[in-house]
Amino acid sequence: MIHDVLIVGGGPAGAATAIALADRGVKSAIVERNPAPPPRVGETLPPSVRNPLEKLGVWQRFLDDRHDPAVGNRSSWGSDRIDEIHFIRNAYGNGWHIDRQKFEGMLLDEARARGVTLFMGEKFDPQTSHRAHFVVDATGRASFIARLAGADRIAIDHLIALTMFLEPRLPDPQQKFTLIEAVENGWWYSAPLPDGRLVVAYMTDGDLEREEWSDAVARTHTTRERIAAYAPADDEPHIASANTSRLNTVIGTNWLAAGDAATAFDPLSSQGIITALESALDAATAIADDNLAHYAENVTDRYRQYLVERAQYYAAEQRWPHSEFWRRRQLHLQASHANAS
Ligand SMILES: Cc1cc2nc3c(=O)[nH]c(=O)nc-3n(C[C@H](O)[C@H](O)[C@H](O)COP(=O)(O)OP(=O)(O)OC[C@H]3O[C@@H](n4cnc5c(N)ncnc54)[C@H](O)[C@@H]3O)c2cc1C
Repeated sequence: MIHDVLIVGGGPAGAATAIALADRGVKSAIVERNPAPPPRVGETLPPSVRNPLEKLGVWQRFLDDRHDPAVGNRSSWGSDRIDEIHFIRNAYGNGWHIDRQKFEGMLLDEARARGVTLFMGEKFDPQTSHRAHFVVDATGRASFIARLAGADRIAIDHLIALTMFLEPRLPDPQQKFTLIEAVENGWWYSAPLPDGRLVVAYMTDGDLEREEWSDAVARTHTTRERIAAYAPADDEPHIASANTSRLNTVIGTNWLAAGDAATAFDPLSSQGIITALESALDAATAIADDNLAHYAENVTDRYRQYLVERAQYYAAEQRWPHSEFWRRRQLHLQASHANAS
């Protein structure tokens, strides 16, 4: 069988592309290597996620799934002081701490309900797998299809995430806030999950020498206090790449890349999932209208804008001028100013 559009990868970008294509009258199929959405890191959504979810027609389903409202962010960044941004003044209301598996399951279920064929538990194999007139690469940072087509992935840093999930024990002193704490060799991120656990990640450069997770967390202030309210972890942190990277080209003959497969953002931005959904909406329009060049321009513009914001945010932290982690990011600010002028 030859599919009109084959989407490889059933994460947020792949499922959303399929839903948006169905809305535009284009039939598609998804090939996803996992039989069901696996546990994944990445659970904080900004209030504005309502926008792409409404465009996809899944906003009510999202609300029905009762993810946890996120009231705002607290951060120790640039000084020891804890700053608080409350979503109360945001036009879209609160943000969200989602049950990631439930969220991805909902998107795939919606795609199926709109006539999309799902091949779950099947790793795409170019020798034996499906044939299609057009292929969407939604394989995340692997960019599996784009690389097969000869595209290259360009990373601008070596950021990795060392993540733990902790079980609740006592009331969380940071309540429902996402907490960011900058330290000498990186920064810490923690957020409560809807099931009561806390996700805690240490973000640092993978090519730098690093201490044990437990030693590193002992040198934090607010993060250390927060995790004291949770049971100590008895396993090793999960390590994942979290670098800022992009493909050198996000379109080709009869293919395009969407979501992380096209551009991957620093988790500091909490923009990964919303960008995946927005790029999926753009990708579906580009395929339906046969206008891939416009899609590529949009992806590039969004990435450029993100790079400027990222550089400015990192530049606000000046407490460790001799730290290699921070020195590299100050150089990025200079480079982004040079690119902009
Ligand atoms: C540590 C960390 C924390 C993060 N925190 C946040 C956060 O708080 N908020 C936020 O918005 N974003 C966050 N992100 C980013 C967010 O997780 C990603 O931007 C998002 O998952 C991108 O969605 P995607 O569908 O493009 O890719 P993915 O979610 O990576 O999905 C790709 C899918 O493709 C499948 N696949 C890959 N290869 C094949 C193949 N050959 N055949 C078949 N299937 C294949 C995979 O199994 C997977 O299901 C975080 C990322 C990291 C690393």
